[in-house]
Amino acid sequence: MPKLPTSQTPYPEELASLPTHLFRQAVEQAALAISITDARANILYANAAFQRITGYDQSEIIGHNESILSYRVTPKLVYESLWAQIQRQRPWNGLLVNKRKDGSRYLADVTITPVVNEEGDTTHYLGMHRDVTEVHRLERQVQNQKTLIESMVDAAQVAIVLLDEQAQPLLDNQEYKKLASELDTEPAAILLTELRAKMGSAFEEAYGKHHNIAAREIAITQSNGLQRWFSCAVSWFEEHDVGADAFYEPLRRHYLLLTIQDISELKKQQEALRINSLHALLSEQERIQGLRETLAGAVYQLEGPLNMLSAVANMMERRRDTGSELPATSALEEAMSKSREALDTLRACIPDQGEEVIQAVNLNEVLSDVLKLTTPNMLGAGIVVEWLPVEGLATIPGQPAQLVNLFKQLVANAIEAVNEQRGGTRELRLSCRPLTDHFEVFIEDSGPGIAHELRYKVFQPFFTSKGAARQHLGLGLAMAQEVANRHGGTIDIDPEYRHGCRVRVQLPRATGGRHE
Ligand code: FAD
Repeated sequence: MPKLPTSQTPYPEELASLPTHLFRQAVEQAALAISITDARANILYANAAFQRITGYDQSEIIGHNESILSYRVTPKLVYESLWAQIQRQRPWNGLLVNKRKDGSRYLADVTITPVVNEEGDTTHYLGMHRDVTEVHRLERQVQNQKTLIESMVDAAQVAIVLLDEQAQPLLDNQEYKKLASELDTEPAAILLTELRAKMGSAFEEAYGKHHNIAAREIAITQSNGLQRWFSCAVSWFEEHDVGADAFYEPLRRHYLLLTIQDISELKKQQEALRINSLHALLSEQERIQGLRETLAGAVYQLEGPLNMLSAVANMMERRRDTGSELPATSALEEAMSKSREALDTLRACIPDQGEEVIQAVNLNEVLSDVLKLTTPNMLGAGIVVEWLPVEGLATIPGQPAQLVNLFKQLVANAIEAVNEQRGGTRELRLSCRPLTDHFEVFIEDSGPGIAHELRYKVFQPFFTSKGAARQHLGLGLAMAQEVANRHGGTIDIDPEYRHGCRVRVQLPRATGGRHE
């Protein structure tokens, strides 16, 4: 620290030319409280601002020690360091709690400078102070608010992080720290990357213009393969630069506030609910389909004998034309008319299919739903499943529930086939691959396979190789083929496959569609 000038220090020339009374007036009229004391801090002079701030006039203050201003709450240590400093002939600056003449207190920002004579002794002290009570109050208020906001943010159940313009975290809360340790990486970086990928140019636009982004759902896969879901929202916070440079030319900085809510549990519940509803919908569809096929089968079975009766009636009709009327003719005609009526009633009883709207269906999602629906059966049967989805999007135009039903039927058949096998491997492989104008799905099982001569027969309604005791109607593959046909696709059984059964389903892509 530079040593203070003493009375020996030569004055600059321009200072020497100034009249002495100018210094006195300058001190007297200064807005700062100025006092001059002897070496024991007894006041010799106090300017007008000093009188204004302390409430003491000249006559009341002169001759008193500066300690008259002490409110006696300032720690002794502060005074000790004050005196230690000024006795080493160094200026001291600090905060003291002062008491005015009327007893009211104020916080004083005090600077004390020793005045050193030609011999190098401190003869006087120059004291300058200003009332900083209000500044201190505002600082404390800001500090209190900051503490309050920080504890609120910390207590929040959502992860919150504030990023600077270079996307570096500046502030975060407990939940965010917890998330970072769970993900073993910076959550903001991965979630913003996913958000950018999900929103595309809309993200760039919002980011560039500092527009808020409403909550969006983002899925990420952890290093352990588990998928987690987050609801992420972006809002912006604008700060005015507090630097002196920006006092007259305000500079604004933008901070990104990212709030992250873990919705994995909610998503899990929603998914379980969706699979349950899908289960219920499929069961209902299967029941209706079964009823339709049964009634259609019954109509078909009855139509045969009725046609025979009709032929007999025609023969009898011809004989009647030759004059040899048989007494049973009219009875037969009546029986036939009643039978037709009964058949019509039966046909009318066939329930409607309940047409599903054609929409863009992701085959990967359909097959994943089928696996979810059949997992309990496969676990129960100890079957090892291999699932090879199409990379990227596998979208076709179709009826989602019908398609799930189709593959569920094929997977159920595969599980049943594996269960028939005693010993050996118990495997099921589900794969999907893109071709130019269609997708191919393969369902392979390690069961006994289907005999070559039955490859086409198995698709006929009411054909079953299981026998009546197993209560199989033999409608599953017929229904699956009907659904595939309705989607413009096909189902066939690979005759070359030797390790069990391989069913291939081909489904066309949308016209002009390409694998993305
Ligand atoms: P004191 O007994 O006065 O002092 C407490 C401790 O300070 C002592 O134990 C000792 O270590 C040290 N000390 C005190 N006087 C001396 C001394 N002459 N020589 C060496 N060490 C000493 N105080 C305020 O509270 N408010 C002010 O605005 C203020 N302005 C001041 C302005 C000037 C120019 C100076 C020189 C001092 C100022 N002081 C001010 C300090 C003041 O003089 C007292 O030291 C202080 O108020 C404490 O007073 P006290 O009676 O509690 O204790």
